[in-house]
Amino acid sequence: MTEMFKNLIAGEWASAGNASRNINPSNTNDVVGEYAQGSVEQMNDAIAAAKAAFPAWSRSGPQERYEILKKASDEILARKEELGRLLSREEGKTLAEGIGEAGRAGQIFAFFAGECLRLSGEAIPSVRPGVGVEITREPVGIIGMITPWNFPIAIPAWKIAPALAFGNCVVIKPADLVPGSAWALVDIIQRAGLPKGVLNLVMGRGSVVGQALLQHKDVHAISFTGSVSTGRKVAEACIASSPMKKVQLEMGGKNPLVVLDDADLKIAVEAAVTGAYFSTGQRCTASSRLIVQAGIHDRFVEACIERLKGVVVDDALKSGTHIGPVVDQSQLDQDLKYIQIAKDEGGKLAWGGEVLKRETPGFYLQPALFTETTNAMRISREEVFGPVANVIRAKDYEEALALANDTEFGLSAGICTTSLKHATHFKRNSEAGMVMVNLATAGVDYHVPFGGRKGSSYGPREQGAYAKEMYTTVKTAYTLA
Ligand code: NAD
Repeated sequence: MTEMFKNLIAGEWASAGNASRNINPSNTNDVVGEYAQGSVEQMNDAIAAAKAAFPAWSRSGPQERYEILKKASDEILARKEELGRLLSREEGKTLAEGIGEAGRAGQIFAFFAGECLRLSGEAIPSVRPGVGVEITREPVGIIGMITPWNFPIAIPAWKIAPALAFGNCVVIKPADLVPGSAWALVDIIQRAGLPKGVLNLVMGRGSVVGQALLQHKDVHAISFTGSVSTGRKVAEACIASSPMKKVQLEMGGKNPLVVLDDADLKIAVEAAVTGAYFSTGQRCTASSRLIVQAGIHDRFVEACIERLKGVVVDDALKSGTHIGPVVDQSQLDQDLKYIQIAKDEGGKLAWGGEVLKRETPGFYLQPALFTETTNAMRISREEVFGPVANVIRAKDYEEALALANDTEFGLSAGICTTSLKHATHFKRNSEAGMVMVNLATAGVDYHVPFGGRKGSSYGPREQGAYAKEMYTTVKTAYTLA
């Protein structure tokens, strides 16, 4: 019998009238579970529960919060193989990637357990005689979280952990396509000793429970990760609500990887292939635009194709698989649509792009590499969000930098070069929030800020010590001595 997973409201698991089937993209006959599809009423109940829990939780001490977050971290890390397997089964990234992501969620909770103990303020003299000034940070209040399907445990973790560490209450709505990992995470955190109502989970459709979360007057802030088009709606709803909500948006990318003539070819090919195609290219930081200097262009393309020939696309849970399936039929349709658009616009499909058959029915796509593309083509300008990348030729470093920055996105950017001068110049002049030298654009640490510029991000950074900018509000207090 298929297991039924409920919403968590006020510390109790609550059934919903409807449920959705969570399907394994490596084998569409395999149902991971039935997950509750919450209603507007359930979302309102969850927000009311968070509101009721806030006065006590916001005044709880750092030791209590530390212990809960640390306990959650310990359980996530102890169960990372099992959680990673669930993640790979529902999302389609390989088992190694799934376990890596689950481990990362555990490390994030350990980091923010430490942050509970590190919150500090300032006491400074006033410009007025006899007056003292204190600057402190307080919790923001009720935080609504809306997350995408592609990092189903890490993104909920990097939002929930800092929110709780700094004394906020949370209502999270994970992606309806892949809710299982978020459910497992919330279950672990709740059992770590969190008071009822501090953390609430309402699964379901964005247009129903997501909208209800955005429109509720008792929600003080929204942290969103997802597409640009949804992000814009989220921001509009946050500004239109009364009072306005604090908002953080992490959205798409069209990340460039520049390869200069003086690059180490092996390093460049590894950065390009792992950055563009691993995790099935379904990463906001994927290196989807490969901007390659003319002198190394042909050798680079040839070496990428050789490397791609050895890449195994198969069931995410099978050992030996390098790239799992695309997440679902609609994403596969989008990938194929862009492959056709790139061909129609004059790009040359140098490798891949075929739908593959495997032992089990799933959404298998051979990684696609286009050459002879320009930065003006749609394949260079719009996020595909699949295992599709295109090579753009550049005559020199200056042109490569200009092409890298000629995009409405600004999440991550990379350069492969042995020139210290060009690496240094690129780090300073790239219009991206994260810059990589001789590394793939995807793959970041959990203890430092994450986020972008331009159309990729809006509001404070996520992760590391910078997360407090989102999850605390600053108070300035004056005292006449
Ligand atoms: P999406 O925008 O379709 O959905 C994201 C979330 O928003 C889901 O939970 C969805 O149910 C919800 N939602 C949809 N419509 C809504 C509405 N009207 N009101 C409220 N909520 C609504 O994105 P997706 O397809 O799940 O994820 C892929 C996108 O996420 C890509 O664009 C990718 O680049 C981006 N992403 C960005 C980052 C980052 O940190 N920058 C990380 C991962 C993914």
